Amino acid sequence: MLKNLLWALTVWAVLTAVAFAAPPHKVLIVDGQNGHKWATTTPVLKKLLEETSLFTVDVATSPPRGQDMSGFKPKFADYDVVVSNYQGADWPKETQDGLVEYVSGGGALVIYHFACAAFPKWKEYNEMIGLGGWGGRNESAGPYVRWKDGQFVRDNSPGRGGNHGPSQPFQLVVRNADHPITKGLPEKFMHVSDELYGWLRGPAKNLTILATAFAPKNLGGADEHEPILFTVKYGKGRVFQNAMGHTPKELKSVAFIATFRRGVEWAATGKVTQKVPADFPTADKASVRD
Ligand code: ZN
Repeated sequence: MLKNLLWALTVWAVLTAVAFAAPPHKVLIVDGQNGHKWATTTPVLKKLLEETSLFTVDVATSPPRGQDMSGFKPKFADYDVVVSNYQGADWPKETQDGLVEYVSGGGALVIYHFACAAFPKWKEYNEMIGLGGWGGRNESAGPYVRWKDGQFVRDNSPGRGGNHGPSQPFQLVVRNADHPITKGLPEKFMHVSDELYGWLRGPAKNLTILATAFAPKNLGGADEHEPILFTVKYGKGRVFQNAMGHTPKELKSVAFIATFRRGVEWAATGKVTQKVPADFPTADKASVRD
């Protein structure tokens, strides 16, 4: 009798756990062309997400540079969030329109590192990502966004969009501690030696900058606080951009790992359920995982 009762309780507990466990969020990483070595970073991004048990990850890889792109049509609508590790030839118009429709209709897009250099001539892409660089971007792409006297200001002065000095360790400073992605993080935290993206410019509409890093002139920077983590509201959709992570080496930095995972969850759901990890970096010491 007792044995039967215990058995029944066990079955009930298992069924309840299954019924109430949140289904993992479906992620699509898009890659296939990039001025960076996308084939080495995509598997790391995939693993970083899957390790949380919050996500399942598929990868859509485009044809190589110079080959026919007309058949590249990922089904964005099948996913909760699209992560771009893509920078290369234009997609077919149907695919570009598909991404715009998906994001504006309530989808989610995460721009990782050099994906901010993709599609310089695609108006809606630039609106979705808020700020971008390279690809001939200049003042016609939109303003730089600068942190001056305690607030962000738009700077329309002429000049190229996107540049960086030699890799250097840098400190991120949270500029919006109320956002789910940054809530609970220390105000200042160190990243490992990496490219410090600067001079990004774009339409910068509906932009929320979460964290900046100071790029000193003597290390190839603009002597400005450069936006490193930011979000864009695009129609009903959420976009998050993380400018860090040049190669797999830099993806071992907990500053990248935690902000990437939190940003993908926020983009997918509007919330962040992940705790700040115990090995999160401090104001003066980066943290690295093997
Ligand atoms: Zn890079």
